[in-house]
Amino acid sequence: MNRELEADLKERLRGLEAESLRRELRRLEGGQGAQVAWGGRVLHNFSSNDYLSLSREPFLVEAAKDAVERYGTGAGASRLVCGNLPPHEELEGLLAEWKGAEAALVYSSGYAAAVGTITALMGKEDVVILDKLAHASLIDGARLSGAVLRVFPHNHMQRLEGLLKWARQRSGSGRILVVTESVFSMDGDRSLLAELVELKERYGAWLMVDEAHGVGIFGGEGRGVLDELGLANRVEVQMGTLSKALGGSGGYVCGSRALREWLVNRARAFVYSTAMSPVMAAVGGAAVRWLRSEAGEERRGILRKRISEFSAMGFGEGGGVKSAIFPVVLGEAERALKASASLLEAGFLVPAIRYPTVARGSARLRVTLTAGHSESALQELGCALREWKPPGA
Ligand SMILES: *Cc1c(COP(=O)(O)O)cnc(C)c1O
Repeated sequence: MNRELEADLKERLRGLEAESLRRELRRLEGGQGAQVAWGGRVLHNFSSNDYLSLSREPFLVEAAKDAVERYGTGAGASRLVCGNLPPHEELEGLLAEWKGAEAALVYSSGYAAAVGTITALMGKEDVVILDKLAHASLIDGARLSGAVLRVFPHNHMQRLEGLLKWARQRSGSGRILVVTESVFSMDGDRSLLAELVELKERYGAWLMVDEAHGVGIFGGEGRGVLDELGLANRVEVQMGTLSKALGGSGGYVCGSRALREWLVNRARAFVYSTAMSPVMAAVGGAAVRWLRSEAGEERRGILRKRISEFSAMGFGEGGGVKSAIFPVVLGEAERALKASASLLEAGFLVPAIRYPTVARGSARLRVTLTAGHSESALQELGCALREWKPPGA
């Protein structure tokens, strides 16, 4: 053991502790769900991104069992070496068809999809423009690409236009990529996609939209927010994850055939990483098929109903069914931690979200609703939350 390293790390951890920013892993006792076991208790879980409560759904478990028997557990190599198995290509075919795109490519996580795709597309001669609230994976991809990076205030279209103008003048015919999310992960609001599409077309830029919190929930057959708005075929790079509403794990990109080819050749997170497990690829394929079925539509309907019930209780901004994410912003990290602890006491798992996940001074409880919650659980949570944030406050 290196004493200096130990002392250095302990000192840094104490620094986090002093700011109420130290994090710890919490080990659940069973699997994922709207209710989870922890510390010998059963808690209502309002922190999961398993929006449709699919992760333990029998048909997905069966798909996993079937795949593990046929293909084994691991892919054994990267896709380009010898890890490209039938479930991978089936999943990509299903994704492309469902999304109405020419092609799709899957990565072993959404994080890898973001980083791999942006770094493959952009280089140091190019400009990447991000919404201020874009997810860490998108920021990391942009940084790692070496491109000139610009950030516009959240949903501020005028500032975005200013940056597009600047980028266009600067680089003549160079590449410009605008990157955003359809539903923002920590705020649950949406980006102004119609305006974004207009702007990027006016300035000859490309648009990448991360549908991590939109796919499976919104749009026809759960295709996402872009589909709901009729904008999907005007967006060059549609990204998403299989790890949230789809109940498995992995990331995807949908777009043109040339885009897929280029990523297969140049996305380092794809080329230099072992293929997604064939088990997860099969689970992803089964989830896509299910989303397109009547059962999928029904489940989405339940989630949407929960969202509108919770909105009607005064949570979220402006009501309506915008997303399954409801931030309860409390300010300082310490206050968010206290609120989270008191909710835990009352039987609700709603972790505090702090810096650096959100800006300093905007620590919050991030409530996520899933189709597995009952209306009465929502009511109870609403009462418990009012103590910390009275309606309208
Ligand atoms: C969760 C998330 C990701 C990463 O996806 P994983 O599959 O969990 O790696 C990317 N973007 C956004 C907006 C996310 O919320």
